Amino acid sequence: MIKADFHVHSEFSSDGKSTMEEMINQGIKLGLETICFTDHMDYDYPSIYKYSFQLEIDDYLEKLKIMKDKYKSKIEILTGIELGIQPHVIDRMNELVSKYSFDFIIGSVHVVDQIDPYYPEYWENRSEEEGILRCFKAIKEGCESFQGFNVCGHIDYIIRYTPSTKVEYNEYSYPYYADVIDEILETLIKHGKGIELNTSGYKYGLGHPHPKTEILKRYKELGGEIITIGSDAHLPEHLCFDFERAANLLKSIGYDYYTTFKEGKPIMKKI
Ligand SMILES: [Zn+2]
Ligand SMILES: [Zn+2]
Repeated sequence: MIKADFHVHSEFSSDGKSTMEEMINQGIKLGLETICFTDHMDYDYPSIYKYSFQLEIDDYLEKLKIMKDKYKSKIEILTGIELGIQPHVIDRMNELVSKYSFDFIIGSVHVVDQIDPYYPEYWENRSEEEGILRCFKAIKEGCESFQGFNVCGHIDYIIRYTPSTKVEYNEYSYPYYADVIDEILETLIKHGKGIELNTSGYKYGLGHPHPKTEILKRYKELGGEIITIGSDAHLPEHLCFDFERAANLLKSIGYDYYTTFKEGKPIMKKI
């Protein structure tokens, strides 16, 4: 059984909707041993959008300290962050991760060529395949130029935002993008980085987590071993979303362990 959720947002994220305490209480109710908050910090997130994704880091760390102490007999609360990777802010990201100590850092690409693929303008003037490919390339470039994270976030979540319907997700497949996906996975493995299994794909009704099963398999085939499990919950009811399904999936493709992190160090746990 998976007893740790390693991708959780609170109101400290621009798009967060719940307080830390609401998430923590839900975690206790679900029998979690560990909850790792990973609120958003996206340096230079384009100002044309309604969110800023700037984390008030000192307030965040202070609140986590209070929460850890208050709930220490009931649940382990860890300090994580989801860092948005963009090529022109690498110095700022490196500065942040060397200045503060986090238990766990997710490196995610949320902005490609200054546009968030969540918005329709990303898909103007290019085919769906080109849009998907460009995003994978941006992840590859990000992982090559920045290593201040532990796992790469939701590798194929771009699929959620393609203009076609969600049904198309099943038509998007690893072999079509194999070259660039392999480069991402090989870069991560070379630098000792992991991936996450992000169950928000299930929540969105895609029938797969992020990344898709084929990519989870491929990471293992290439020698990858570090895989954290996170719901990417922004609401208490989404905490640990479909974790049992995720555990069964991992077991079915040959994973015996999942990974948690503390003070930046991986801990392997039996699934
Ligand atoms: Zn994300
Ligand atoms: Zn997230």
